[in-house]
Amino acid sequence: MAIRRIAIEGKDEVLRKHARKVDRFDKRLHVLLDDMADTMYHADGVGLAAPQVSILKRVVVIDVGDGLLELVNPVMIAQEGSKVDVEGCLSVPDRRCTVERPEKVTVRAQNRHGETFEIEAEGLLAVALCHETDHLDGILYIDKMIEDVTDMPEEDEEEA
Ligand code: ZN
Repeated sequence: MAIRRIAIEGKDEVLRKHARKVDRFDKRLHVLLDDMADTMYHADGVGLAAPQVSILKRVVVIDVGDGLLELVNPVMIAQEGSKVDVEGCLSVPDRRCTVERPEKVTVRAQNRHGETFEIEAEGLLAVALCHETDHLDGILYIDKMIEDVTDMPEEDEEEA
């Protein structure tokens, strides 16, 4: 397991590229998932997508406080409602912005062994799922931002 360098908006073009679907659920993928979890926890983030560690594969890790979620080839299959919340991103340091996202989402993904599962989420987990799957298509939350937030208390920060 290792901490990888997090790509930064404006410096690392990789953040704007399309990630490729994973078709091999091998040791290499498992090392990537382990390293991504390490990197996310080390940076105090709630989510991390592979392009953020300069790997163009459709791989995401999330932990909003309920344990580690690993998603390979995640696809948003349903969404409902809408809600505006503050987001941050490990690849866009020192910024927080409000973004409108669906209130509830259903995502289909594969686990590290290639088995398909579905997850239904709301609240912070729904936001994280949207934020991270966007990363796989080269989309950053600042592309969708409503406005910058400057007066946020430190303890409310969530970065993904
Ligand atoms: Zn992000």
